[in-house]
Amino acid sequence: MAGKAHNFLSELTGCFAFPAAENPTVAMIESAYRHHGLDWRYINCEITPANLPAAVAGARAMNWAGFNCSLPHKVAVIQHLDGLGESAEIMGAVNCVVRRGAAYVGENTDGKGFLASLSEIVDPAGRRVVMFGAGGAARAVGVELALAGAAAITVVNRDPARGRAVVELLNQKTGARADLVTWAARYRVPEETDIVVNATSIGLFPDVNATLDIDAETLQPTMVVADIIPNPPRTRLLADAERRGCRTIDGLGMLVNQGVIGVKHWTGVDVDATVMRKTLADLFNG
Ligand code: NDP
Repeated sequence: MAGKAHNFLSELTGCFAFPAAENPTVAMIESAYRHHGLDWRYINCEITPANLPAAVAGARAMNWAGFNCSLPHKVAVIQHLDGLGESAEIMGAVNCVVRRGAAYVGENTDGKGFLASLSEIVDPAGRRVVMFGAGGAARAVGVELALAGAAAITVVNRDPARGRAVVELLNQKTGARADLVTWAARYRVPEETDIVVNATSIGLFPDVNATLDIDAETLQPTMVVADIIPNPPRTRLLADAERRGCRTIDGLGMLVNQGVIGVKHWTGVDVDATVMRKTLADLFNG
């Protein structure tokens, strides 16, 4: 009798976060798996901080190929891993865990996703950057810009203690020159700036009309202006920057590219970014 061999054992990946319901990454990654005919799954899991050790042990027990970590697990997960990639080590935060042999290694793809998106327009090597924000996302973006050779990074942040922590990290662990501006009054972007980045949460849905306290008239056509807010992709900052003649980069690019980099780590496949971007754009515009 003729027969056919089957493999009903899919490769498993996913995300650990709390809360998890509003994270669209599962839709984006599974659209790439489908598009490329990969028999892989991405499971969005709501994991409380108390359950994180058991969740990581469970992923190991089920031989997951890896998983993303979102808030609040990006730092806490490190003690359950077997090693860290370079930028994750510098940042002290992991958003992507990768199985390599029997080891689970922590990487940080947030800043790398930003860099991939930025590099389509400008190489940050030797450039002067103004970055608004000093939270987890700003830390990831700042470290990757510095590792990519940015010459100077001015961190503009409301809370001086958080700002100082990022500036010290950049000065101590990277070759970039970093300084702090405490954001207490309307900020004028210095004329010699090459790249302006919003790495705060200002502009994120539903507060879409919130604006950065900057003098938009100081944005020059020579500047590249990037926003990390993915939803909505066209923020007021980007609209102002376009009006001023700047080239702009939206936060969807960062989200898509960190997904592309994560899937490459897990599967070895370079997935089509446009498929993932379309999935997210449809979700955010729908
Ligand atoms: P955090 O809460 O760690 O940091 C928030 C930052 O925004 C702080 O620097 C905070 O300043 C600043 N901020 C918030 N509100 C204001 C305000 N009204 N005026 C001035 N500054 C303000 O958040 P994360 O760093 O984790 O995330 C920030 C954003 O990045 C999120 O909105 C998220 O959507 C986005 N993100 C996008 C990704 C992508 O792939 N596109 C990936 C990861 C994050 P202060 O310190 O003074 O409070």
